[in-house]
This record gives sequence, C-alpha cells and structure tokens, in this order.
Amino acid sequence: MARSTSQLQPINDVWEWQLLGRCRDRSGIQFFHPDDDLGRISRRMREAAAKRVCDNCPVRRQCATHALTVGEEYGVWGGFSENDRTILRELGWQDALDRRGFADVTTLERRLMRARAKARKAKERREQGEHHSGRSGFDRRPT
Ligand code: SF4
Repeated sequence: MARSTSQLQPINDVWEWQLLGRCRDRSGIQFFHPDDDLGRISRRMREAAAKRVCDNCPVRRQCATHALTVGEEYGVWGGFSENDRTILRELGWQDALDRRGFADVTTLERRLMRARAKARKAKERREQGEHHSGRSGFDRRPT
C-alpha cells in the first residue's frame, strides 16, 4: 500500500538508534552464533556475555522492539536471545510497552523468568512421576 508523504519516515530516523548501541564497535561473533560452533556451553557463554553488553545499552528497548517486531531470527538483540524471543512471541510481548511504544524489557525479562521457572517445575514433576512409576530409565526387574 502506498503511503502519503506525511507517513513516510526517513530511514535514518528508523535506524538511528543502532548508532548508539553499545555493541556498535564489538565483534558480531559475540552476538551471533557462528555456523561452525555447535557447542551448547560456548553458545550460552557467548549469549550471556552479549546480554551483559545489552544490559546497560541506552537503546536496549528500541533494539528489543525492533527484533520482536520484525521477527529477527538470529542473534542477541536488546538482551534477548533467539530462544528468548521465541518464548516471548509465544507468551505475548506487545502488551508490555512503555509510554513511547517500546518493549518494556524489565517486564519481559520477568515474564521469561516466570515461564522458565514454570517449565522447570513441570519438568521436575514429570521426572518425579517417572521415578515413582519406575520409568526412570533403569530396568528394576529382579534378576
Ligand atoms: S541492546 Fe544489545 S544488541 Fe541492541 S544495540 Fe544495544 S548492545 Fe547492541
């Protein structure tokens, strides 16, 4: 659909926040998972380091909003990893906006923590259930 001139926004304004990002002069490797690195631990460490950079970034809200809005598939954006964004899309994030219309990252972090705690408890209950019903992976039949 064509837009009227008043609706058009200069591209510079849309992307200007990126110039203020704390990651601007950092290696992209910290924020994006390299194809040749299949290790889960190194991935977690890299994501944690990237999130620490995002923590005090002045444009974190803009960055998170952008990634959630356009569905960025890869990398850490606004302090949220690929997995975080998948969960947030499932849980919903558009009701957690600040007055300027940007994602309220504190609320979203709390939402993620609650969802993960709930998933952990459900997993523990499943494992306890399996253990009590004798389906713990070991054959307990008498020999
Ligand atoms: S929030 Fe993180 S990824 Fe986004 S611009 Fe800031 S440092 Fe970079």
